[in-house]
This record gives sequence, structure tokens and C-alpha cells, in this order.
Amino acid sequence: MKHLSIFGATGSIGQNTLDLVRRNKGLYSIEVLTGGRNLDCLVSNALEFRPKIVATAHNDIYQELKEKLSGTGMQVVAGVNGMADAASLPVDWAMSAIVGAAGLEPGLRAMQAGADLALANKESMVAAGPLMRQTSRENDVALLPVDSEHSAVFQALIGEDHKAVERVILTASGGAFRDWSLEEIAAATPEQASTHPNWHMGQRITIDSASMFNKALEVIEAKELFDFKANQIEVLVHPQSMIHAIVGFQDGGLMAHIGPADMRHAIGFALSYPNRSYLPVERLDLAKIGRFDFSSPDLKKYPALRLAYDVMDLGGFSGAVYNAAKEIALDAFIAHRIGFLDMARVVEVVLERIFVKNTSKENNFCLENVLNMDQIGRTYAKEEIEKNL
Ligand code: NAD
Ligand code: MG
Repeated sequence: MKHLSIFGATGSIGQNTLDLVRRNKGLYSIEVLTGGRNLDCLVSNALEFRPKIVATAHNDIYQELKEKLSGTGMQVVAGVNGMADAASLPVDWAMSAIVGAAGLEPGLRAMQAGADLALANKESMVAAGPLMRQTSRENDVALLPVDSEHSAVFQALIGEDHKAVERVILTASGGAFRDWSLEEIAAATPEQASTHPNWHMGQRITIDSASMFNKALEVIEAKELFDFKANQIEVLVHPQSMIHAIVGFQDGGLMAHIGPADMRHAIGFALSYPNRSYLPVERLDLAKIGRFDFSSPDLKKYPALRLAYDVMDLGGFSGAVYNAAKEIALDAFIAHRIGFLDMARVVEVVLERIFVKNTSKENNFCLENVLNMDQIGRTYAKEEIEKNL
């Protein structure tokens, strides 16, 4: 019996994880479920899976959650501290599927308590890659990528010599605006940006796919997870979203990972690792699909991607600032306060204000310092948004 915690259980990744657990109830026991404001979903999952601890991120709904679960024997906690306590319960495997930098601390706590960490929350690696790697090393636990591209790279690297890797190609669907002109993109609304051609995901990552902030975060995530150099990481637009990543070796060979656009593959791979188990995903009929297309991304349309390479160049805490400023800019876009392309502008100005080229890369990556830089990034981003209104 494998004991699991699911952080962000009520979201898209969380629900897909629970779907796999539900199909194999004899193999897994859920110890912790955390969620946000979607109480109905959290309560219904709690009643089904009977975890020891149920947590909500929001103190103001603690009472309501407690009442709904009264008499069940489950411990109910709330807020950032409640989530951190819940995440510290020792388990074998934890799914980090909170959206945003809020996912960092629970993931760290879980690793410190001895859990292998399945990492959907790419923001943790972007903001605090060195701290995540150090925590995994010191506690002798695995960091298992769940982002489909990174799971693909991880799988392509099994049994390979990392020194023989020449390059890695992350594919991108191109998001909602792949075929739109720059002028059309500039006028795009949050509603238009919230639909994805291939994947069903949470609203924030869906908008980040349209702006390629998502791919930008993934490029940095790849550097941090696999210790690649920035100039080894390429992005290719691949509208079918079936080749998830390609690893190129020094003998010219390319190892591509192909699969349906269904996150249950990457989640299931991380759940059964190091084994492979049966997964209920579509089997691709390649003859029917017929063709795979590729093109280079247009950096004018996707300034977020250009900025990711600046961030890798700057190093240090620039990832934490990049992500934090992006989260604030995304909030402002969703609230119709700034335009679609303003998101990258805000992030660029904030990076310029805080960092100059060639700043020292020797930084002390403790949680406190990362959260501090995250706060500065948020404050500056809010100032820039106010200035331009
Ligand atoms: P989602 O919006 O569907 O769900 C997010 C979850 O986090 C919910 O349970 C929500 O209640 C919780 N949450 C939100 N804000 C929180 C906070 N401040 N504190 C604590 N909990 C909070 O998001 P998602 O699409 O499932 O994505 C989750 C993570 O996985 C993100 O980091 C995303 O980039 C990554 N990811 C998602 C997909 C996908 O297919 N959805 C693919 C790859 C990576
Ligand atoms: Mg991805």
C-alpha cells in the first residue's frame, strides 16, 4: 500500500490523480487532500478517499469545511500554516499540483518528511530550483516530473548518459492564438485566452499557454530539473501536442516521446515509477493521425519565451521574480485591467528594475529568501500595473 498526499486535489491535475487512484483503490491510501475554495469538490473527495488531514488554503472557509466533515474523524486545517503542517505528514509520495508559487512550501515540506515528490507545480522549480534539488538530495527522495514535456524528457533519459545529451526540444501547441496576428493577439480577451486547442487544464495555465508564459516556465523548469544549459533547450511549435519532448544526443540521434494529450500518462508514470503500469489513456492511431507538424515559435508573438532565456542568463532569484511578476500580471489580465501583451511588458520592466546583467549568481536559496524575492516581484509588478493604468 502506497501512502499519498495530493496538494491542489480539487484542480485539473489533482482530479486526474484521484481518477487513477480511484481505479486502483487497493494499491493506494490517501493521507492528505488540500484544496482552495471549491469546498463541494474537496468534501466529496474527502468523504470518498477518507484522508487523515483535509486542508483548505483559505482561513475564512475553515469553519464551513470543519462542519461539513464533522463526525468523520478527519483533521481539518486551513491557511498557509495549516497547509504546511498537512504537507509535513510523512507519506511515500506527494503530488504537488497547487497552481503558482503557493505550491513551493508544501512540496518542500513533503520532501523533508520523506516523500517522493511528483512535480506538476513548475513554479517551484522556476522560483527555487536549487532549493528543490538540494531538498530532494538531502532527504534522499525523488523529484518526479509531471509536466508532460518534462516527464517525456525524464523517460527519454532513462538508461542514457547525461553527458551524451546535446540538446532537448520542448514542444508547444502554440495555445489559443497560434494562428492569430500580432494585432489580434494584442486585443485578445481573457475569455478568448481561456480555451486550449488540445488540453483541458486550469484557467491560469491555459492562459499561460496562449502567451507561452507556460512554455517559458517550462524551459526554466527543464534547466533546473535536468541541469541543462540554456543554449541546449529549444522550443518547437507542434500543433498536435502528441510529441511532448525530444532529446538529442551527440551521435545525432533524437529520442522523442509520443503520447495522447492526457495528463494521466505523466501522472501515472510518476505514480508507478520506477515501474510502468496499465494506464487508461487513448492508444494513438498514427496512421489515422497521418502527420506531425513543426515550426519555430515567433518571439515577437511570444515575448515571454524570450524573457525566459534572459532569466536563465541572469540566474539567482530572477526565476522567483519572473514567476511572481507573471502571476500578478496574469491576475490583472484576467480582471481586464491590462492587455494580453502587457503581461510580458510588466514582467520585463520588473526584471529590469531588480536585476542588472551579470549580477552575482551566488545566492542563498533558503525558503525565506525565495519568498522575500517573490514578494518584491509582486509589489513591483503591482506598481507597474498601477502606473500604466
Ligand atoms: P487548477 O487551477 O485546475 O488547480 C489548482 C489547485 O490549486 C486547486 O486545487 C486550487 O484549489 C489550488 N490552489 C489555488 N491557489 C492556491 C493557493 N494559493 N494555495 C493553495 N492551493 C491553491 O490548476 P491545474 O491546471 O491543475 O495546475 C496545477 C499545477 O500543475 C500548475 O502549477 C500547472 O502549471 C501544473 N500543470 C498543469 C497541467 C494541466 O494539464 N492542468 C499540466 C502540466 C502542469
Ligand atoms: Mg507542460
